Amino acid sequence: MVTTLDKPPAEQYKPAGRAKFPPGMMGKVARHMIKNRLMGQRFPTVLQLEPLHACNFHCSGCGRIREYQSTIHEQLTLEQCLDAVDQSDVPVVSIAGGEPLIYRHIVPLVEELQRRDKYMYLCTNGWILDRKIDEFKPDKHLIVNLHLDGMEETHDAIVEWPGAFKKAIEGIKILKDRGFHACINTTIYKQTRNDEIVELFKLVESLGIDGILVSPAYSYQEVDPAFYQTREEIQSRFRDLAPRLRGFKLWNTPIYFKYLMGEIDLDCTPWGTPTVNPRGWRGPCYQLGDTHHGTFSEMMKSTDWPRYIKHEDPRCAACMTHGGYEPSAALKALSFKGAFEVLKGW
Ligand code: SF4
Repeated sequence: MVTTLDKPPAEQYKPAGRAKFPPGMMGKVARHMIKNRLMGQRFPTVLQLEPLHACNFHCSGCGRIREYQSTIHEQLTLEQCLDAVDQSDVPVVSIAGGEPLIYRHIVPLVEELQRRDKYMYLCTNGWILDRKIDEFKPDKHLIVNLHLDGMEETHDAIVEWPGAFKKAIEGIKILKDRGFHACINTTIYKQTRNDEIVELFKLVESLGIDGILVSPAYSYQEVDPAFYQTREEIQSRFRDLAPRLRGFKLWNTPIYFKYLMGEIDLDCTPWGTPTVNPRGWRGPCYQLGDTHHGTFSEMMKSTDWPRYIKHEDPRCAACMTHGGYEPSAALKALSFKGAFEVLKGW
């Protein structure tokens, strides 16, 4: 068996190929999208399931623990989680929070989603992964998704938790040595250096990571001018960064990268990745929690979607996050022209 100790050091690592998803995942997602597209309806593909708001970190970039202060101790029941999956009828569930590893029903939830043939990202900051991992069984449905926003100094500063980076890196080694699928999720902030993103991806790939998800951070000028990046600033950054990421195991679509580089425009598809948590279905999107609806169907019927599709809401002006635009990119890939764009890469 090859262990992480046998691998070459990160600085010698050369990206050499495209990402591979767990067996059957892309086929299942494609069938779901084609079926719903043919039915001509708005549909989600990935459910952002937040069974709890509580977290063991207090990240500046997150804000959930401040926004949901009055319901911070509430958790969805296992039945409510499964009902949300049924309501949205998605092939992929992203279990987030809060920190889902402290959710009281996390093990039966993962097992039931495995049984129902749902693929899932189990998102975690990695802090207690070493203590919890023995409770899970590796299989094709389960991808453990570690949050890593930069190299050690940057990541620990963003999550405001010294030691968080080292623990997440240790988590990748543990996951890969035990046969789990593992990916990282990297949010790029105004302060993040492109060089350290490349360095980070070399490091995690040298440890055997299966995939990498990237998104620029969400911000809008009125709330956080210190973190605010205009659309033009994001595009300029990605025109430099994206070509340096070719060959890494990126799970973002090439069409989304072209969008980030400013080569194409996309409408937003906020219902493509709906969010549910103890307050209800968060509308209109993961970023904007203006209303919480009782059911998925109520959210779909009562939201003024055209206001968000074309970024008419001022808070959408500089948003290029993957939650809103990856579903748009994936829908575009279903067309003949879009499929060609995917094959070409970015
Ligand atoms: S552009 Fe889309 S994802 Fe971004 S804030 Fe607006 S509705 Fe939400």
